[in-house]
Amino acid sequence: MNQVIDRVLIPAADIQAKVVELGEEISADYEGENLLVVGILKGALVFMADLIRAIRIPIQIDFVAITSYGAATTSTGAVRILKDLEQAVEGRHILIVEDIVDTGLTLNYLTENLRSRGAASVKVCTLLDKPARRRVAIHTDYNGFDLPDEFVVGYGLDYAENYRHFPYVAVLRREVYAGTP
Ligand code: 5GP
Repeated sequence: MNQVIDRVLIPAADIQAKVVELGEEISADYEGENLLVVGILKGALVFMADLIRAIRIPIQIDFVAITSYGAATTSTGAVRILKDLEQAVEGRHILIVEDIVDTGLTLNYLTENLRSRGAASVKVCTLLDKPARRRVAIHTDYNGFDLPDEFVVGYGLDYAENYRHFPYVAVLRREVYAGTP
């Protein structure tokens, strides 16, 4: 086992099976449509790369970057777009792809933003969800796994920009956070 990992919460094989399921569901729901899949950088990168290869309808992809936690493990509540979409939003069916929904502030902001810019529809696909931490009510249309209130890394998720490349979702050893405010 990796020296920084306390335990693996979701093994790589479970993630891959879930991604295929989600891709099938999305393909069936949007049959006959042309979908703009929008990944939230950087955390959704790995999930997005796998998910789009499990989708069987015509899609385009784009990315937004939104302020995240930085090196801390609790939310500040501040949400701001750092990098906007390159594709036009008006009239498009948009599927936002997120790594994890925590307080819901990020998705609340982004879904409202895209709706106000004239999207035909805005739905959300998240790999992970921590329902216990929600601060705003946000509806997610496609969900991978519910998690307990624990800080996780891997499969795109970082701690201080590290561990995004782990193929599983895991909890870090306590010592790794030691000394971080
Ligand atoms: P929200 O706006 O829902 O509070 O935050 C969502 C974002 O917070 C995620 O995209 C992710 O960047 C970050 N986040 C929330 N929980 C975790 C976690 O357990 N681990 C990591 N690495 N990031 C998290």
